[in-house]
Amino acid sequence: MSRYWSELARGLSPYVPGEQPRIAGLVKLNTNESPFGPSPKALEAVRAAADETLRLYPDPQSTRLREVLADYHGVAPEQVFVGNGSDEVLAHAFAGLLKQAGPLLYPDVTYSFYPVYCRLFGINYETVPLDAGMRVHTPDYLGRGGAIIIANPNAPTGIALSRRQIERLVAARPDIPVVIDEAYVDFGAETAISLVRDHPNLLVVQTMSKSRALAGLRVGYAIGDAALIEGLTRVKDSFNSYPLGRPAQAGAIAAIEDEAYFQQSRLAIIANRRALTTDLASLGFEVLPSSANFVFARHPGHSGHALAAALREQAVLVRHFSGPRVSDFLRITVGSSAELGRLTEALAATLAAPPPH
Ligand code: PMP
Repeated sequence: MSRYWSELARGLSPYVPGEQPRIAGLVKLNTNESPFGPSPKALEAVRAAADETLRLYPDPQSTRLREVLADYHGVAPEQVFVGNGSDEVLAHAFAGLLKQAGPLLYPDVTYSFYPVYCRLFGINYETVPLDAGMRVHTPDYLGRGGAIIIANPNAPTGIALSRRQIERLVAARPDIPVVIDEAYVDFGAETAISLVRDHPNLLVVQTMSKSRALAGLRVGYAIGDAALIEGLTRVKDSFNSYPLGRPAQAGAIAAIEDEAYFQQSRLAIIANRRALTTDLASLGFEVLPSSANFVFARHPGHSGHALAAALREQAVLVRHFSGPRVSDFLRITVGSSAELGRLTEALAATLAAPPPH
C-alpha cells in the first residue's frame, strides 16, 4: 500500500495466476498449458516476423488475422474481435457489454478472474450456484440479471453445457448480453459460434493459449454480432489501439492455418485425459466428467491442500483452490503421457504413505 495509490488501485483484489516457478525436472500441471509445442508453422511465422519491420507499429485492427478467423469460423470479419489473450478480450467485454443496470450473473464456481473484473469496472454481480453435481443449471439464469457470463466448459470443473442448452438460454434472454467463454471448448465441447447468426446478444470468446499451445504469444478473440464487436472495439480503442504485435498476428494466422497439427494435438490431449481419468479413478479419486484439458478430482481420504503440497514436494505442480465446494479438489492439467506417469507415481506414493500424526 502506498499513499500514492489511487482509490481504484486501493480497492482492487487482483487475480492470482498459477505459479510459473523454475524448478529442475518440474512436472507442471497447474496452468492448463499444452504439453505439446505450438504448430511448427506458427513458430516459423513468429520467427519470420522478427525482422526490421518491428520498428513499425502493427496493424491496429489485425485485419488479416480477423479475416482468417472469420473464414475459419464461417462468419464475417466484422464479427471478429482480437485481443492480447482472451483475458483482455474478456476485460473489454466486461467494460463494454456486461456492465448493465441489472447485476451480472455467473456461476458461484467459475473462472476467478470474473469477480476481479467486476471490481475493476464497478460491475454489480450475483453468483448462481452450480447444482449438486457441480453443473451449471441454465434455467436459474432466467427472469433476473442484466447480463450473463458462463465459461463453457466451465472452469475449474471442466463440465460442459451442450450447444442446445446455450441456445435455449440466449433465446430466452434476448434482452441482455450473454458471453460464453470457450477457452477450453476444443477439448470436447460444442462451440456456440454457429448461434451468433441468429442471436445478436451472444458473444463467444476463444483463445489460442490452450488448444493452439500459444499461451506465451497472448492471442484471444471473440465472435459475435457486428454491433457487439463494435462495442468491444470502442473500448479497445479507448485503452490500447495495438494489443497484438506483429509476431503475435503472424503466429496466430499460421496456427489457424495449420489445421492438421491442431487436430492431432487436441485429440492427443483428449486421449491423455481419458487415461488420466482412469488412473485417478483407480487411485480412489472421484473425477468430474471433463470436456477440457484438465480434470477436477478429489480423494475421499485426503484434503486437496495436503495432496497438492505432497505433490509439490515431489516436483509435481497442480492447482488447488481454497473456497467453498472446491477446496477438496485438485485441478490437474492434462499433460504428456510421461508427465501423467510422474503424476500418478507421485500420487500413488503419497496415498500409500502413512498419514501424518
Ligand atoms: N477463460 C478461462 C475460463 C480461463 O481459464 C483462462 C485461462 N486462465 C482464460 C479465459 C484466459 O486465457 P488467455 O488470456 O490465455 O487467453
